Formats: sequence, C-alpha cells, structure tokens
Amino acid sequence: MTRWAEDPFALGSYSYLAVGSSPADRDALAEPIDDRLLFAGEATSSGGYPGTVHGALRSGVREAERVGALGIDGPVVVVGAGVAGLAAAAAIAGTGLGVTVVEARDRMAVGCGPTGRWVCPLT
Ligand SMILES: Cc1cc2nc3c(=O)[nH]c(=O)nc-3n(C[C@H](O)[C@H](O)[C@H](O)COP(=O)(O)OP(=O)(O)OC[C@H]3O[C@@H](n4cnc5c(N)ncnc54)[C@H](O)[C@@H]3O)c2cc1C
Repeated sequence: MTRWAEDPFALGSYSYLAVGSSPADRDALAEPIDDRLLFAGEATSSGGYPGTVHGALRSGVREAERVGALGIDGPVVVVGAGVAGLAAAAAIAGTGLGVTVVEARDRMAVGCGPTGRWVCPLT
C-alpha cells in the first residue's frame, strides 16, 4: 500500500507533531477514560520513540501495566492488532487475564513477525 492516508484504518502513516503541538499532547492522548478505556499506539509514545514500531510496542506494554495498576481483574478487549495492540494483549495475557483482540482488517500488524515480514495474515 502506498496511499496510507486513504486507508480508513490508518488515516495516515504515522503521527508527527504539528506546529504548535508538543510531546505533552502525546501524553494527553494516552490518558485513560474512566480508568476503563485505555489508549496505546505509537502516537501516544512521548518517551522518544513516536512514529516507530518500538514506540508502539512500548505503549502497549505501558497500557498492559496500567491494567495491572488499576486492578482490572476481568477480561480485556484490545481493539486493533497493530504492534501496540499485540504487545498489550501478550502482556495482559501473561498476567492470566482473558484477552480478546478485535481487528478490522484481515491481517495483523505492519512490521510484525520474526521473519521481518511487513504484513502478517490472520490465521
Ligand atoms: C510505510 C510505513 C513505513 C514504516 N517504516 C517504519 C520503520 O522503518 N521503522 C519503524 O520503527 N516504524 C516504521 N513505520 C511506523 C510503524 O509501522 C508504526 O509506528 C507502527 O506499526 C504503529 O503501530 P500501532 O500499533 O501504534 O498502530 P497500527 O499498526 O496502525 O495498528 C492499529 C490497528 O488497529 C486496527 N484498527 C483501526 N481501527 C479499528 C477499528 N475500528 N476496529 C478494529 N481495529 C481497528 C488497524 O487495522 C490496525 O491493525 C512505518 C509505517 C509505515 C506506514
């Protein structure tokens, strides 16, 4: 795919700070709602890795840790099987909580997979 801005599930390629914005805006994006709706994704990574797979992965782990810190003890639904979603789901599942991942496309994350493939089909 070369026209990422036209992809309804991406609406762009990755985030950037527009003139007048700051890393604090990324932190604001990561603020939970009612301590039940949590947000991961590269755009929420203000710690030096926004716009990257690394930032996405770190944000997923961060939100998995938040699930634990909030004491959420029921099943968790992760929306989006990008790197952030998959990282969150793996970390949450590792704590023993049930996790369901909902993905709109018929494939998983860009850049996933031990072979370095850019697209991994859902199986
Ligand atoms: C062309 C290109 C080249 C890149 N090159 C590099 C690189 O060399 N190195 C690097 O580190 N990073 C690179 N990146 C950036 C990196 O791929 C992203 O930062 C990272 O994949 C973002 O992961 P994410 O999980 O935050 O978001 P995404 O990968 O966008 O995951 C979000 C997921 O949510 C799904 N979704 C969206 N809406 C819904 C919905 N309503 N219901 C269910 N599912 C939904 C989407 O289908 C998607 O699978 C590149 C990106 C692009 C586009």
